[in-house]
Amino acid sequence: MIHNFNAGPSILPKVVFEEAAQAVLNYNNTGLSILELGHRTPTFQAVMDEARALLKELMQLDDDHEVLFLHGGASTQFMQVPMNLLDDKDTAAYADTGVWGTKAIKEARLFGKVEVVCSGKESNYTGIPKDFAVPNDVKYFHITTNNTIYGSQWQKIPVTSNVMVADMSSDILSRVMDFNAFGLIYAGAQKNIGAAGVNVVVVNKNILGKIKRVIPTIMDYRNHIKEGSMLNTPPVFAVYVCMLTLRWLKEQGGVSAIEKINNQKAALLYGAIDESHLFKGTVAVEDRSKMNVCFVMNDPELEIPFLNFAKENGIVGIKGHRLVGGFRASLYNALPLSSVQVLVDVMKAFGNKH
Ligand SMILES: *Cc1c(COP(=O)(O)O)cnc(C)c1O
Repeated sequence: MIHNFNAGPSILPKVVFEEAAQAVLNYNNTGLSILELGHRTPTFQAVMDEARALLKELMQLDDDHEVLFLHGGASTQFMQVPMNLLDDKDTAAYADTGVWGTKAIKEARLFGKVEVVCSGKESNYTGIPKDFAVPNDVKYFHITTNNTIYGSQWQKIPVTSNVMVADMSSDILSRVMDFNAFGLIYAGAQKNIGAAGVNVVVVNKNILGKIKRVIPTIMDYRNHIKEGSMLNTPPVFAVYVCMLTLRWLKEQGGVSAIEKINNQKAALLYGAIDESHLFKGTVAVEDRSKMNVCFVMNDPELEIPFLNFAKENGIVGIKGHRLVGGFRASLYNALPLSSVQVLVDVMKAFGNKH
């Protein structure tokens, strides 16, 4: 049995793999593969409609918030957000809490002014900055809710009077949140929502159309809203996998139910790290991510032997990002508590030998 802790693309529910595999061979007894269906057929339209409706339901979105499925991954949103919301002379505020936030800042600077209101850079991104203020006159305030690479997470979303924009790629739908409080949310699907190749964007339509810039057709969120994410050919298979994963999440009891399990998984693993004489966490305790658990060993010489020992026991995907080193165990929604238990047992067994 394999326990998959990959950071992304990452584990999805087994039923999703099974249904997706079947759909590739024969979708819903149509005699056709999901891969050869026209995107404007009623058959695929039903998939898109259900995916959108499930996301609206699971996030409890109000009627002002539109759900889009777009191409290009979260990295495209680093550019598409400022292109739609920021004029040349405007300023946007950004929180710099890690690699992804830094990349978002770089792209925003191509479209307007950026004020970095807080940064974890000085402390090597080992926590979430605390004391900072966001000016009232900025067009929006951008945060990365979970820092996939460094393993930190905003436990409390900073409430400001600004339009809030969030990159939620690695913790969307993992915890209850007032999603309606955001002007715009984006997330690459390949961590908590589905397969790589599609990007979820949730946008309050009232924040659009406020700038003077001419926006290329395919980059303008309003066109995608008008066309129901079918302005051009959508990534049909990726949208289908999202739909299956969202169905699964609803069956589990939705976001609040999965949050309880996510809390148990994180508590179990951090508990084992803190108890152990071999391992230590890399992030300030109060800012620890419940999705990406980063840790190192007190004796770096033991890291490769531990990695090998874990591999022998079916554990994959725990090698840390090269910027942090050590280990990163990603505990996304689809990862069962039992897999975390196996990892913890393996850590203890290794500890008994060293
Ligand atoms: C993975 C990730 C991205 C990049 O996503 P792509 O789909 O590869 O562009 C951006 N932001 C965060 C927080 C991520 O975890």
